[in-house]
Amino acid sequence: MAIKLQILTDDPKEIELIKRYWAVDESGQYLEKVSALGGIIEMAQGVTLASFIRQRCNAFDENQVCTSCAKLIEIKNRSEAKKVPARSTKLCTTCQNDQDAIAFEAEKAKAAELERQLIEYARKQSSRTVDYSEIPDNQVLLLLALDRAITPRLTNGGFTLGDCRGLAPRYVGDFVMQLREAGLILDDPSKARPGTYYWEGDEIWMLRDQVVYRLVPDAASRSAGEVIRSLLDRVYTNAEGLFNLWLDYSVADVMRYLANQCDLYHHDLSGQELEEIKSTMRSALETYSVSQLWSVVWKVVRDAASLANREYYNRPKAAATIPGKIRRNLEKVQRESIELKAWSRPDQHPVGTLGMVLGEILGVDENSSGHMVSSLVNWLTGQGCSPSAGAELDEPIRELMTIALARDVSSSVMLRFAELIRAGHDVSSAIEEIGETLRS
Ligand SMILES: [Zn+2]
Repeated sequence: MAIKLQILTDDPKEIELIKRYWAVDESGQYLEKVSALGGIIEMAQGVTLASFIRQRCNAFDENQVCTSCAKLIEIKNRSEAKKVPARSTKLCTTCQNDQDAIAFEAEKAKAAELERQLIEYARKQSSRTVDYSEIPDNQVLLLLALDRAITPRLTNGGFTLGDCRGLAPRYVGDFVMQLREAGLILDDPSKARPGTYYWEGDEIWMLRDQVVYRLVPDAASRSAGEVIRSLLDRVYTNAEGLFNLWLDYSVADVMRYLANQCDLYHHDLSGQELEEIKSTMRSALETYSVSQLWSVVWKVVRDAASLANREYYNRPKAAATIPGKIRRNLEKVQRESIELKAWSRPDQHPVGTLGMVLGEILGVDENSSGHMVSSLVNWLTGQGCSPSAGAELDEPIRELMTIALARDVSSSVMLRFAELIRAGHDVSSAIEEIGETLRS
């Protein structure tokens, strides 16, 4: 017999039933069917034959031994038995209980270690301070925008990424992480929900959406509210930082429009394709406005949709043409000095608090071209007033106007100049382009 029984009852009728239930022939086949044993003893309602027997007898399979102590493995019912000796992967009940206890202790120790490390981390974090009068211009704008998006939680308690949705049209997490990496906000494990921080092997990981952030205290011990109010008086000096922040924000505004248009036509773009478009748009924004790029997106997405309906095309193939089409479209616009149409902001696309703050400080909106924003930023930061910038243009302009007056074409020259500026050219390239046409 391949199954060893440890009978726990004295009732002869029950013993007989147990023996008949577990009885097997030499090949390991059960001698009787379970259905044939059903009526022999009356059982309470809801009790199965297997559970009735399990309560009165422990059964051990001689074909399965514990991998740790080599004792026989206990089985609960017929289907757990093996007909031939099998390499078991199981542990006997005793060894399993021992192992569970060790695992439980280890788990408890790791949980305690996590807690200890988080307290230590929080302690180190809370000793840090920032001199807010020294932070760069772009971080000032981001903080002002964040404060407006989550007021009063930036200055009063903590906030999560989900709270910051009103900050920007897209990539909210990236903007908040700019502040995190700059050391202006810190995460506060003591305020996070249990389970936010956890072990992954020997490293502590976190669920980013549940992390609670707060503003790093001021080096001069001012309250967070006072810090934010003091930022409002900032005199801006860093043109490059401000322009890059405007680019980051404007890319988000263009990409959200793209996402909506793609949803509308069921175009599914891969992460890589989106990154490619993001780069194209960022460099196009140095020249054009957000609303002009919306019109490019609008056209290209529609073209791809009609392509998808053509023979030999399908949706993924058509969607894959979008990054290249956007690039070629912009190249053509630039090459042929085409004036891009500007779309108006869709109602369901609010600017976000970062867009509002940029608008108030620079006087720009979605219709401001990158050239114009760049000039405004230079003017605001006092970097555009260098006499050399204007002086460089004196000579080409004098030459252009002399030719224009001599040929009596000054009004068409001025109209063409206005056209080129509207199409996104800067002053010097517009002058150069007209000059070339006149000379040829
Ligand atoms: Zn064992």
